[in-house]
Order: sequence, then C-alpha cells, then structure tokens
Amino acid sequence: MSKRKETEKHWYETVQSYTEQLVSIRSVSPGTGEILVVERVLALLCAGGIRHTYTEHGLDALEHDPYGRQNAYAFLRGKSSETIVLLGHIDTVDTKDYGPLEKWALSPDELAHRRDRLIQRKDETEDTADWMFGRGTADMKSGVAVNIALMRRMAELAQREQLPLSIVFLATPDEENESAGVLQAVQYLLRLREQYGLHYIGAINTDFTTALYPGDPHHYAFLGTVGKLLPSFLCIGRESHVGTPFNGLDANLLAAELISDLSMNDELCDRLPGQITAPPVTLHAADLKTRYDVQIPFITYFYLNVLTFTTGPDALLERLRQRTITVINHLLQRIDAAEERWSTASGVRQGVTQRQARVGTVLSYAELYRETVQHVGKERVDADLKTEWERWSSNIDAILSTCCANSRCPKGCCSNDCVRASRSTIGAKRIFSISL
Ligand SMILES: [Zn+2]
Repeated sequence: MSKRKETEKHWYETVQSYTEQLVSIRSVSPGTGEILVVERVLALLCAGGIRHTYTEHGLDALEHDPYGRQNAYAFLRGKSSETIVLLGHIDTVDTKDYGPLEKWALSPDELAHRRDRLIQRKDETEDTADWMFGRGTADMKSGVAVNIALMRRMAELAQREQLPLSIVFLATPDEENESAGVLQAVQYLLRLREQYGLHYIGAINTDFTTALYPGDPHHYAFLGTVGKLLPSFLCIGRESHVGTPFNGLDANLLAAELISDLSMNDELCDRLPGQITAPPVTLHAADLKTRYDVQIPFITYFYLNVLTFTTGPDALLERLRQRTITVINHLLQRIDAAEERWSTASGVRQGVTQRQARVGTVLSYAELYRETVQHVGKERVDADLKTEWERWSSNIDAILSTCCANSRCPKGCCSNDCVRASRSTIGAKRIFSISL
C-alpha cells in the first residue's frame, strides 16, 4: 500500500471509530445525554498524553441551563494571533422515526445488517456499501469526529513546533433545539480573543452537506453563512358552537390559509448570484385544544422556518405582515360571501338586518405589547411576563398544550377579552405569557 493510501486509511478508520463512539451515546436535544457526549469528546481530544499540549482545554458549563450541559473546547495558541475555529454540534434529533428499528438507532453495525429496510428509495447509481447508518452519523457526529482528529493532529504537531496559526475547537449541545451551546460559545470566543489578543479569520463548521441532485458526484464546501429566522404566528379566531359557525372564526382555518400562503413559497426565498435559499416551511402547528369538544378552536399557533442570506428580522416581519393582511382579508371576504349564500339558502336571512363585513387585525408582538401596556399599565404587564416567563421558559411547548384549552383558561393566562378579539398576531410564541 502506498504511503498516501496508508495515511488515508488511517484517517478514515480514526474518524470512523470516533464517529461510532459518539453515535453510541444517545444525545437527543435537549437532554442530559448531551453532557456524556461532550465528556467523550474531551476524552478523545486528550487521549494518549497530548492533554498538556493544549493552551486550554475543558468543559464550559452553559449558564442557567436546566440540563447542566456544557461545551467542550480546546485551544492551541500558534505563532500568529490569526485564529481558525473548528465548530460542531454533538446533539441529535429524536430516534422515533426509526420505527421498529429504533432500538438499533445508535448502532451503525446493527443497522448495516438491516440495510435493505433502511434504503427505501434505492438509486442504482449509488454505491451504498460504505454507508454508515445511525442517528447523528451524518448530522453531525462524523463532522465532530473529523474536528477531533484534526485537532489531535495539530496538537501532535504543536509538540514539535509552535503552529503558524492559532486554532480553537468547539463542540456544542442544543443545535437541534435552541442553540444554547453556540450562544455560550460566543462568550468563550470573546474571552479568548481578549485574553490572547486573537484575530478570528474564519470558522469551519463540519455539519453535513448532501448531494444536490440524484447521482451528484461533487462534494461541497459552502462559503458564508445561511441565517435562520423563526417567525411565530398566534392566530386568534372566535369561539362558537359548531352548529353556529358563522358566529365564530375557526383559528385552524386562519392558520391553514396562512400556512398555505407562506410554506414552500419561493417568493420568500433570499437570492444571491447563483444561489437561492430553500423556501420556508413550518416546524410546528397546533391549536390549543387538549380534548374533544364541539367548540370551534379559536387559538392556534405555528412557526415558520425561514432561511436567509440578507433579509433581517425587521424586513421579514414587514413582508410577512403584508402577506398576512392580504390572506386574512381574502379569507374573511370568502366567509362573508359564504354566509350570505348560506343565509339565503337556509332562510335565516329574513328578518336579519344587513350584516357587517368581518375585519381582522394583524399585530406584531411589539404592537400587542404596547396596546396591552396602554390597557393595563406597564408595571402589570412586565410583572406578569416575568412571572410567566419564569414559570414556563424551560418547557414552554409542553405546558402550552395543557393550557388555554378554552375560554375559561384554567391557568388564567388568557381571558375572554383576548380570545374574543379576532386577531392574527405575528410575534414570538411566548406571546402567550401576556395576561390581558
Ligand atoms: Zn447539524
């Protein structure tokens, strides 16, 4: 075997072994498994007596983290203050989608034996012999494994001679959730910059990339960054019995119309020469009913994943507001017309005076906040927000699903005043914490 081939084999096997070790530890975010993975990452970085070569290495605890999670880091100070950051996340999404194969979701070997059950859409041009299966193999424990192997190599070189550049290694939890790890890592990077006078010249994120079309032979390295915004919509209709639907407004219908307009809409993509972001999609949509009843659902929320190159939050919010106004107006006009026809057909029309056209309101979170302050005073709004935030922040989705099920909200977090207003509100999902 040639020297080059031998080196390639060594790197391949090293990265494969690190990947398997990291994949074998369940680290669905958020959870305590993320702690075990960063501990393993640090152990791999330090194994074989190179621990003391690092200028710094360790675990950086995430501030106020309910799971006690940490970032793993290592730093090699080189001759130059110019610094490269190697970035990766160690958490994964859930394993439930493995279905009957779930018990092997962290065992690439076991899954390999069941290859035929995993590869449903087999492309004949694809050689699947060296595929590695398992939750987190591609996204992105193999990427973290590459970074560990690189960092170890740099440390070995640094034992002989100071490196020309400085290098920071970071492995963070919570990427699949709320990015708590990388937000904390920013603080760490700022501290390092200050302490060692560093100049960051770039970061390499080894998260997965994929073929862009079937049979695509290329391997891609993407330059720049894609931003992500998560506009959240709270749709408030009006409660009513299903037998008198024109007295109410189905919040699910309102949300469905909005989702239909916004999700997969390429008009909302950011464009640069030769590149376009993937279109928005919802990441969650739900009404707040927790049981069967015959009342029209009148509060629904959803959030939309919007990838960006250049669009900032303000511009996106304004764009979404304009679209939302248009969608609501069309919907309400359609319901007005349906009611007109229905009234005539049912004979209810006789004796009823001219009905008023329905109107909807779109408010940003800031506007709703201002209006509420005007209504009940800043002190009360701020106090209520603080109380609700402290009570809900760690697990807001789970709690929302048990709250606001009807107009007599069991937790008193919304009142009839708020639910009677026929509004769709763009803003944070934490809008629920306002007690009107
Ligand atoms: Zn990832």
